Amino acid sequence: MALTHIDPQADTASVRRISILGATGSIGKSTTDLIRRNRERFQVVALTANGNAAALAELAREFEAELAVVADTGALEDLQRALAGTSIETAAGPDALCDAAGVPADLIVAGIVGAAGLDATLAAVRQGTLLALANKECLVCAGDLLLAESERAGTRLLPLDSEHNAIFQVFEADNADDVEKLIVTASGGPFRTWSRKQMASATREQAISHPNWDMGRKISVDSATMMNKGLELIEAAYLFPVAEPDIEVLVHPQSVVHSMVAYVDGSVLAQMGPPDMRVPIAHALAWPARMQSPAARLDLAAIGSLDFEAPDLERFPAIDLARNALAAGGGATVVLNAANEVAVNRFLDGEIGFLAIADTVARTLDQVNGYDIRSLDDFRALDQESRAVAQMLVKSNS
Ligand code: NDP
Repeated sequence: MALTHIDPQADTASVRRISILGATGSIGKSTTDLIRRNRERFQVVALTANGNAAALAELAREFEAELAVVADTGALEDLQRALAGTSIETAAGPDALCDAAGVPADLIVAGIVGAAGLDATLAAVRQGTLLALANKECLVCAGDLLLAESERAGTRLLPLDSEHNAIFQVFEADNADDVEKLIVTASGGPFRTWSRKQMASATREQAISHPNWDMGRKISVDSATMMNKGLELIEAAYLFPVAEPDIEVLVHPQSVVHSMVAYVDGSVLAQMGPPDMRVPIAHALAWPARMQSPAARLDLAAIGSLDFEAPDLERFPAIDLARNALAAGGGATVVLNAANEVAVNRFLDGEIGFLAIADTVARTLDQVNGYDIRSLDDFRALDQESRAVAQMLVKSNS
């Protein structure tokens, strides 16, 4: 797998040219905060957003980017107006997003949310750029394709997700055969102690109020259903040479231990830190060196005790939906992701209840027959079919 082939001799002395896909989002903001504090180490090349032209233009001006791209063509005029009088190039649309990912850089942060980021992330990998991957849906939808392309281009994937970044930090690539299991920790989300009955009437505001992390809306809802952990389980299976049955999920409400690797001699190596995405992002931005991050320092004496518990798979069926889709193969994870994106959006729009999210995913998986994803066209066809079925199920439910 990609991470075991990483060349630790990567150049860290010179200024890193960096592009950020999804610069205006939560991952983008944490990344630009770190760059702002370490200006001498980075030169910003390309920045992208969906439709938030004002925020993108502000970042592009601040960091003197070479290129600013909005995915939504309707936002181009605003972007051009906001960047008038500068030498920053502007463009819009899905192809322009891929062009932004193709501009030569030393590191690209993949921080778009959802499968919408797949084309641009693939474009980044194809040109051989070191990729710091937060956009987990890319691996869930096209993991084989992404890894094959990164192998072909001789590039590397650095995980930004705190759990996978933690595993990356303690995974002994030279002793991969001696790894017994990966233990992916989960906060349990805002409804960790809620009954199914309580969850049935959970509001959007309650679902996006994560107890430990400040994140975008989609991943916050995924954390509440624990689908996020399911997606991460799939992500881990692609990033590390460990099979699905040996990847365990462990609930840890404090989000201090970000994940662990257990070895055959009984040793368990963990990475710890405050629940602040600037820690794993700083690790990836500076890799294989380290850089300063402003995150609060871990004070274990103040925290006092750390708790762990097994996930409740009855109350949180999304974990097994993801595990089963991964085990089934044949595109089932594409169906899972597409149905989840549709259902989360409908929940955020107030059209369905919280429990209907996992239910819609389960029913879509029952109805759509997957197939192996060998190309982007394969992915697009299955993704569209799954979204159509999920939409239909949501409509017939509401
Ligand atoms: P946000 O919703 O905060 O930001 C998403 C970014 O993607 C924004 O820049 C947005 O632009 C852009 N975007 C949205 N839709 C599209 C589209 N259709 N085409 C192009 N760009 C688009 O998300 P997060 O930062 O929270 O999450 C990003 C990814 O990182 C997700 O895959 C998530 O699972 C993962 N991740 C996030 C963590 C976090 O702490 N937030 C932690 C670990 C992983 P605009 O602002 O214009 O809408």
